[in-house]
Amino acid sequence: MNFSDTEVAMSILLDNGFLKTNSVKDADVILVMTCSIRESAEDKIWKRLKYYQSIKQNRHPSKLPLKIGILGCMAERLKTKILEREKIVDLVCGPDAYRDLPRLLAITESNQSAANVQLSLEETYSDISPVRINPSSKSAFVSIMRGCDNMCAYCIVPFTRGRERSRPISSIRSEISKLAEQGVKEVVLLGQNVNSYRDTSERVFPGQQTTLSNGFKTVYKTKQGGLRFSDLLDKVSLDNPEIRFRFTSPHPKDFPDEVLYLIKERANIGTNIHLPAQSGNNAVLENMRRGYTREAYLKLVDHIRSIIPDVALTSDFIAGFCGETEEAHLDTISLLKLAKYEYCFSFMYSMREKTQAFHRLVDDVPLDIKKRRLDEIVYTFRELVLERHKNQIGQEQLVLVEGISKRSESDLYGRNDRNTKVIFPNVEVENNGTLQPIQPGDYIVVKINNCSSQVLKGNALTHSSITEFTYYQVLKQGFESTEILKFQ
Ligand code: SF4
Repeated sequence: MNFSDTEVAMSILLDNGFLKTNSVKDADVILVMTCSIRESAEDKIWKRLKYYQSIKQNRHPSKLPLKIGILGCMAERLKTKILEREKIVDLVCGPDAYRDLPRLLAITESNQSAANVQLSLEETYSDISPVRINPSSKSAFVSIMRGCDNMCAYCIVPFTRGRERSRPISSIRSEISKLAEQGVKEVVLLGQNVNSYRDTSERVFPGQQTTLSNGFKTVYKTKQGGLRFSDLLDKVSLDNPEIRFRFTSPHPKDFPDEVLYLIKERANIGTNIHLPAQSGNNAVLENMRRGYTREAYLKLVDHIRSIIPDVALTSDFIAGFCGETEEAHLDTISLLKLAKYEYCFSFMYSMREKTQAFHRLVDDVPLDIKKRRLDEIVYTFRELVLERHKNQIGQEQLVLVEGISKRSESDLYGRNDRNTKVIFPNVEVENNGTLQPIQPGDYIVVKINNCSSQVLKGNALTHSSITEFTYYQVLKQGFESTEILKFQ
């Protein structure tokens, strides 16, 4: 999300006559996009600010005084307290106030500090064409909504990013079509809770009901009407058959079957689903206000697998949340074993001011126990994923090439449909009857021949495309021509 916010803020500044520099030492203004989801993220920002302060203090007197600004969630959380602390920062701008950046910067020119941390019920920056930070990258993030109404007990996001609001489908389609013209081959649709997406900008659709997954509940009144995430996914994946679409993050509570069937049927929607569980214990889930039980979550996992058998599930886990007992932790370990994730993002719990947990609960799990539980979550996940990676040896997979592998200059890396990293030797392979080099952004068929718990390894076979590869796979499996039609 910060990546996408940076592109929006940069677009606003470039439109207002500012220029981007790649060297901190050449800059007259340094703006830092921040995250405050965990204390450690903020600690890193404060360290970084000290470094910028040293540049500010050693700046040559002939140059304009350097201005330093904090943007995003940390700005929203700490507001003007940032200006007071150690007097490093000149400007504070919350996630809904980027349009105000030129005015705020103008104020700082007269050596005053400036802040705008007003949250909005409407701002989606839908009319802003983000300027890509890395224009040569073949992957892009597209923000489809902002904010979150869920109020999970541990989470600062509803306080730093405000109420949930969705960007109109028309503006998302237009941004993606511009990205397609620039040669982008993968788009990640971003939102705090993408399955709550609801575009009510054009007409009200009274027939579009919100249906919660079985056994799930929500803390807010369910909303009705508008075009939903499945409508958006349907349209963008049809518009751009050679772009691979992914999305993050959905909340498990409202995972509609329409989205699952689209993933199953459309070859250009990745078969990976992020389904953040956070814990495998009912008492902890209740304390977290997640709105589901372990049983309901596992039932949803089974349901997803019944529709998309080869789905790659990923999840987030918090180790050592308030009141988490050893038994509760073991429930999380057993959930990991049952759900069989492709990747897990796990963190030690860090209490954030303002959250429900801060007001109601006690951060009572000692740090060393949090660390040990985190290690156990990571260890369990790694052991299990290795087995699943081994099962993919021998498969031919379509890999979108990202670049040269960091470990070896003679290897390339990319990601398969399930979003797993695949490494393979950089050789010329067949493309329409001739041997051709492989470039970032190419779709390559790779035969998997080895793996670790983190990556798959293989050999490149041929250049391909999503459409070509899908036909090839379907024909290989001996499907009837009537069944092929659904892939068109
Ligand atoms: S769904 Fe929960 S964890 Fe996710 S952003 Fe919203 S409040 Fe935070």
